[in-house]
Amino acid sequence: MPLPLPAQPTALRTSAWRRGLWAWPFVLALIFSSTVGRWLQWSDEQEREEDRRTLIADVLTLESRMSEWLAREDNEVKLLASVLPRQVNDALLLRERTVVEGLRRLWVSVTVIDSGNRLLAHVPQQTQHPDGSSTGASSDDRGLSAHLSTPVRGGGRLIVRFAPASLLRLTVPWWISRKYDVRLVDDYGQRIAATGDALPTAGRQSYRVSMDPHMPDAFLELTARDVRPPWWRTLPMGLMVVFVILSAAASWTLRRQMREVVSAEARWRTEAAWRRAIEDSLTVGLRGRDVHGRLVHVNRAFCSLVGFTPEQLLGQLPPMPYWLPDAVEDSMQRHLRNMAGNAPRDGYEARWQHANGAPIDVMIFESPLVDAHGAHMGWMGSIVDITERKRSQEREARQLEALANQARLTTLGEVASALAHQLNQPLAAIAAYNAGVLRSLESLQVQSPLVLDALGRESEQIAEAGRIVQRIRSFLTRRAPQPEPCQLTEIVQLALSLLRRDLARQSILMQTHATDKLPLVLADPVLVEQVLINLVRNAADALTGVVEPRIELVVGRAGPHFVRVDVNDNGCGLGGRGIQELATPFHSTKQDGMGMGLSICRSIIEAHHGALEAGQSTLGGACLSFTLPVDLTQEPP
Ligand code: ADP
Repeated sequence: MPLPLPAQPTALRTSAWRRGLWAWPFVLALIFSSTVGRWLQWSDEQEREEDRRTLIADVLTLESRMSEWLAREDNEVKLLASVLPRQVNDALLLRERTVVEGLRRLWVSVTVIDSGNRLLAHVPQQTQHPDGSSTGASSDDRGLSAHLSTPVRGGGRLIVRFAPASLLRLTVPWWISRKYDVRLVDDYGQRIAATGDALPTAGRQSYRVSMDPHMPDAFLELTARDVRPPWWRTLPMGLMVVFVILSAAASWTLRRQMREVVSAEARWRTEAAWRRAIEDSLTVGLRGRDVHGRLVHVNRAFCSLVGFTPEQLLGQLPPMPYWLPDAVEDSMQRHLRNMAGNAPRDGYEARWQHANGAPIDVMIFESPLVDAHGAHMGWMGSIVDITERKRSQEREARQLEALANQARLTTLGEVASALAHQLNQPLAAIAAYNAGVLRSLESLQVQSPLVLDALGRESEQIAEAGRIVQRIRSFLTRRAPQPEPCQLTEIVQLALSLLRRDLARQSILMQTHATDKLPLVLADPVLVEQVLINLVRNAADALTGVVEPRIELVVGRAGPHFVRVDVNDNGCGLGGRGIQELATPFHSTKQDGMGMGLSICRSIIEAHHGALEAGQSTLGGACLSFTLPVDLTQEPP
């Protein structure tokens, strides 16, 4: 089930800069297009300026060409005027070669008037046709005309009329008329003559110059035939607009895409944070490895389980720092088996080592890691710490064993109690018989010192045996200690008298040192004797194989309120073990040891409000000591 996403944390919120990133291509496209547009505008202005300069140059060239032509015609007219007779008529005029050539070239008519403006001659004669045309006139001759005039001899004038259209036809070169609409216009812009049909001037460049002095009140005007479209209507500009539109569309698509990516990224980050939080809250350790066994992922629980930081673990290849140093071979075998995909499906147990050296028992479940394409990319292992479980299992087993031992001890105690009870009577009978024999020998006046001495010793031993049996009985029958004021040195002597034979058999040198005037202690003598026997027996056991075995028992004060007993030996020592470990029930290094001795001793001493301690002896072996409280009621102030 998809998890409901929490509000996006501030740190994860996408920056405004990133959110506006999609607009950058469009903005850049706009800047680029406007730069290109500006450049197009500028180059258009340059070209227009260039066109205008060319136009002006062309107009001036054409005007000078036409002026030259008119100046030549004017000369011809003046030449003609100088050669004309005073009495001129049409026939005379037509005989003049200049007139004929002029009419053939440009002139429309040649007229001579006298000083009173009376017509003297006029060639050619015009005949009006019914359709309105007249003979002797070309198409150019129709419409407006211009004239050249010069005075003749006798006060008249020679007037030569010519058609401006013919003038244009003769003087305008073909390339000018292809490029421009050439017109002659008057002051008011009215057309006098033109090379072609009049073009609309809108959008076209045009320029005019005066035709003075040959054609006063007339102007030569050139209008470019080509219409240059404005810069913003050119093809590059059109392409730029298309480019901007496409950029806008692309940017819009990019924006949508980016929004999807950003929201997917935010979702992914949130999910990663969720996953991290879930992983960190797990008490199960998680460990990801690639196909080569390199650690690529660890969670918090795993790090605290093995006591290493993620930085110390990530990237590590086997052997791992948490493997037990003396089981690296086994761990490597297991690792290779897992890498081959043969890890047990139900998990397997392993023993690792915490960074602080403590062993850890773990249960490991491996599962393959696959990527989005289904390719195998490693292994994910979940690790459960079963150290405590294992310990409690062991503890349970030990407790069961302890119970069994306890049951055995109880039975043994009962047997021993019964035995002591049973032995009491035979011992009493032996003592009675022994006393009877002694009395009989006395009455019979037997004076053999050998026999009497033997019988005396026998009585002593029987009494000793009786005391031992009595102590064993009272030890076995009593449960709680019954403290009484007693002298510790006496209890020591009693305990040693019981052990003397064993110690002598092992050739152990037994030494006792006691401080003078020791105060009485408040203790149960039977139990304290039991403690002493146990400590001396352990010391004797530790002396097996020692060349000069020696036990030293020191009794002295430990402060104002305690008396202390140290049992020193020069045996094998405790090997660094403390009283805690030694007094653990069933802790034993002996083949046939039960490991209950020191445990019982500690219970007895602690029941007396004293303390049992273990350490190193000055003799080279172990030193087991205990303290007992002084009986303050007996102690002089
Ligand atoms: P047990 O004598 O049955 O082994 P104890 O509780 O009396 O049980 O002793 C526990 C262990 O303490 C012994 O097995 C021995 O390893 C060690 N120990 C006790 N006293 C001495 C000592 N004087 N020197 C060396 N080791 C000792």
